[in-house]
Amino acid sequence: MLLTTVAGSLPKPSWLAKPRMLWAPWNLSGPELAEAKRDAVLVALGEQEAAGIDIVSDGEQSRQHFVHGFLEAIDGVDFTRRVTIGIRADRYKAEVPTVTGPLVRRRAVHADEVAFARAHTTKKLKFTVPGPMTIVDTLADEHYRDRRRLAMEFARVINEEARELVARGLDVLQLDEPAFNVYMDDVRAWGIEALHRAIEGLSCKTAVHICYGYGIKANTDWKATLGSEWRQYEQTFPALAASRIDQVSVECANSRVPVSLLGLLRGKDVLVGAVDVATDKVETPAEVAATIRSALPHVPPERLYPCTNCGMVPLDRAVARGKLRALVEGTRLVRRVLGLT
Ligand code: ZN
Repeated sequence: MLLTTVAGSLPKPSWLAKPRMLWAPWNLSGPELAEAKRDAVLVALGEQEAAGIDIVSDGEQSRQHFVHGFLEAIDGVDFTRRVTIGIRADRYKAEVPTVTGPLVRRRAVHADEVAFARAHTTKKLKFTVPGPMTIVDTLADEHYRDRRRLAMEFARVINEEARELVARGLDVLQLDEPAFNVYMDDVRAWGIEALHRAIEGLSCKTAVHICYGYGIKANTDWKATLGSEWRQYEQTFPALAASRIDQVSVECANSRVPVSLLGLLRGKDVLVGAVDVATDKVETPAEVAATIRSALPHVPPERLYPCTNCGMVPLDRAVARGKLRALVEGTRLVRRVLGLT
């Protein structure tokens, strides 16, 4: 009960990529880069295990960005046709590739990464891939010209990939859908349908991560406009509660999300974000415990998984390590109060 986990990414070592930034350029290339990525995965696994995290990830050490890493092996996505567009309803600009033809997965994208991580930890292993709606929102499309159709095509491709990842020993596959917090009507119209297509036939646990984004300025500025109560989740949680997804990962630490909204996820495992990724201040175990306890009236302990709010890739490594430890220690405090071991 109260098993700890992470939303996904961890900071990359400075010998692998430029620290403290998104889309950080690699510091190496060719076989040296491949080796450095594997070394970084070992470090990421080791740090999570040392902190006492129960369900670990590879820290997304092998990809430059959580969306475009997956797209690099998909025919139909042309990385030479990069355009700058406003994404997440124009919250910020990003340089994105263009869909110019039918989507075909040339090869497994992450199978080797999962196999490598699986071989180097005895903990339960989670792996993240971008969700269909978030992919659609993070590229330009000159071929399908229909977001729903494009999302269903990506869902098919994700499902092909996911089946291979599960075969390599994955315990939890998480689809990252920050776009679910932006296009709430689309979530109901086709977002859930696309998730279902993506997880079709998978034997592992499935999760979806929805959040208010990394702790970058565009996101903190956006959050400042959302008012005293953030109720975006209120529109998507009932649809997710009725879905076939097993787990929902949400942001609770330092957010203005009314914690009672978690009650709308009845029947689902809830990954409760109990450390903030938008600040360098490391939470105390007591602060983490308070966030977890605030969720307990709305999520039974057997369904509550203390987690990070979002990916930690833009953070300083020492800060991220401190936050992982605080997450585990805060969870222990709650376990003690509840009489759990
Ligand atoms: Zn997130």
